[in-house]
Amino acid sequence: MIRKKKNKGQLIVLSGPSGVGKSTVIAELMSERDNLFFSVSFTTRQPRVGEADGVNYNFVSRDTFEGMIERGELLEYAEYVGNYYGTSLKVIQDKLDAGIDVLLDIEVQGAAKVRSKCPEAVLIFIIPPSFEELSRRLHRRATDQEDVIQGRLQKAREEYRHIPQYDYMVVNDKVSDAAAEIVSIMTAEDCRTRNRLHLVDDVSTDR
Ligand code: 5GP
Repeated sequence: MIRKKKNKGQLIVLSGPSGVGKSTVIAELMSERDNLFFSVSFTTRQPRVGEADGVNYNFVSRDTFEGMIERGELLEYAEYVGNYYGTSLKVIQDKLDAGIDVLLDIEVQGAAKVRSKCPEAVLIFIIPPSFEELSRRLHRRATDQEDVIQGRLQKAREEYRHIPQYDYMVVNDKVSDAAAEIVSIMTAEDCRTRNRLHLVDDVSTDR
């Protein structure tokens, strides 16, 4: 039985093409798993209808974002379709140090930066059951013009080339199944010896 809280949280990176259903999977994970913090990114893109500042993103100006880059305040950042997106270093560090797991929803360039700065991070790529299904999901959203949808499908093809840099792949056919697979990955990662060494003291002093 685990008596001691873990010393350090686990950094989990989720990536996947637009339309794959990452936000829904993340919402399911957040409701199922304790001790898990979702990192709200900073972005220079405009809020979409229904998005709230500080909830979906921290929406900032380009000047503010560039100031954060200069002061080294970001764990990683990337430019994606003309806008900056980045992750606050301090927020992540504080949570991990407090033993809380942190979930990042970031694209492939950012994931590569996290991999080089934090080799112990767990990288998970979410794919749809097929490209046809991804296309159907993007059309079903009915928020974008055909050329935007085609652009997203093309971007997805480019993103797929980065899949080998990821530790795990999860197919999002059914949200509850995808979330359950991610929970299993997180549980397995918690069981790694390096993440459990703090329990050894307890065991060796047990009589
Ligand atoms: P969207 O504009 O559709 O919300 O996001 C576009 C892309 O930016 C998504 O692939 C999302 O995962 C990625 N993204 C969101 N936040 C960050 C971040 O902090 N850093 C990086 N590198 N990508 C991010």
